[in-house]
Amino acid sequence: MKLSLVVPCYNEEEVIYEFYKETKRVFKGNIEDYEFIFVNDGSKDKTFDILRAIHKVSDNVKVVSFSRNFGKEAAIYAGLGKSTGEYTCVIDADLQQRPEVVLQMVDILDSNQDTDCVAAYQDERSEGKAVSFLKKGFYKLMNKISDVEIYPGASDFRLMRRKMVDEVIKLTEYHRFSKGLFSFVGFNTVYIPYVAQQRAAGKSKWPLSKLFIYAIEGIVGYTTAPLKIATFAGIGLIAAAFVYLFIALIIGLITANVTSAIAIITLMMILSGTQLIFLGIIGEYLARAYMQGKNRPIYITKDFLTYEEGKEE
Ligand code: UDP
Ligand code: MG
Repeated sequence: MKLSLVVPCYNEEEVIYEFYKETKRVFKGNIEDYEFIFVNDGSKDKTFDILRAIHKVSDNVKVVSFSRNFGKEAAIYAGLGKSTGEYTCVIDADLQQRPEVVLQMVDILDSNQDTDCVAAYQDERSEGKAVSFLKKGFYKLMNKISDVEIYPGASDFRLMRRKMVDEVIKLTEYHRFSKGLFSFVGFNTVYIPYVAQQRAAGKSKWPLSKLFIYAIEGIVGYTTAPLKIATFAGIGLIAAAFVYLFIALIIGLITANVTSAIAIITLMMILSGTQLIFLGIIGEYLARAYMQGKNRPIYITKDFLTYEEGKEE
């Protein structure tokens, strides 16, 4: 098998068939030996029925169907685990990432033995200025404070050699942040620009709030630096408190005036706010250790359709 396509799908009834058809059309004559691995991430619409129908009429389609929505990261993990291709590509189901780009990636791996991975990054972003600004800020912060480098704008859309895929699926952490994992395993990665198309149909499943949680995942998953901020901030605050005390004492001695209640209240609010923030940060790490300690599965399969074992219902 030359190429496995891993396609996470969550409520994609409107585009999934078009994706399948379009990819087949683009690949025809260019690449023949490939498979689709659709991962139905607990869709609530007809996605699974459509995938089942696609599976029935094809001889290169695998479908993993989750028992509920486990998230795109879990879907990618499951798909990579079922892939057998010499190359494996992670691609969205909504045709924002074009199959033509996959061919381009395959060419690069074919002609460069030293390259293990081709990742696409978004050259021009179609999203709003605010979102784009926040995302840029996130990458800057992330690269500054964590050990793994994340290429700004790089997406999950990438083609990897078998040896890299094998390493990625060895990482079985529960809280997954693929971009970080891809970077963590190393290997030579080439970045190519691509222009994300408009969604062929359906809606994005990533509201800003979900992206924010995802960003925290990225930071907390790859660096313990925020914990150190707490220590330094604590030391700084104690030092500042001594200075404050000293000044207050002098002013008190000179004017015989009691420090105003406002200053005290303000200080108390700032201090307790700071404490709560750091409690929260510690909590994030503790929660991860707690979840990992439970050793829960990253996903649970409800149905698995494959073509090697014949077509089952
Ligand atoms: N997706 C998924 N599980 C989720 C959310 C999204 O498998 O919980 C899939 C979705 O079906 C799509 C891909 O992840 O194939 C990217 O999602 P989407 O297009 O909504 O994100 P955007 O392109 O807006 O960043
Ligand atoms: Mg999309």
